[in-house]
Amino acid sequence: MGNMIKISCKKCGASWNVKTGMGMLHCSLEYCLSDFSKDIADEIKKNFEGQDMPHFTFSYETAVCNKCGKMVSVAVLEDLDTSKKYTAACSSCGNNDVNIIGNNITTCKCPKCGHLRLSSELTGLWD
Ligand SMILES: [Zn+2]
Ligand SMILES: [Zn+2]
Repeated sequence: MGNMIKISCKKCGASWNVKTGMGMLHCSLEYCLSDFSKDIADEIKKNFEGQDMPHFTFSYETAVCNKCGKMVSVAVLEDLDTSKKYTAACSSCGNNDVNIIGNNITTCKCPKCGHLRLSSELTGLWD
């Protein structure tokens, strides 16, 4: 089960809705792959090839896209054996250059106006 959160900037009034955490179906590697672009999905498949019980964690993390400047949730998959992390592209513009901020929302700068204190509130649950 994951959380839906609303991140907002009190200074410029910008707000974003993002989802974090993982869903019930994300224990299946196949299912997780649908969140990644084809080349990354292929890379992940190759990485876990031949493993009956792939050892990984999957979650959606809050990130700032360095191209479109939006707060988005991106899929992050980590191979627990090698600690290699795969990060999906920005869900808004498809750019791969994103900054994962995870749970450090309150210490993150507003991507719109640069204000340092963003607030976040839990708006619901998904899955
Ligand atoms: Zn973007
Ligand atoms: Zn702002």
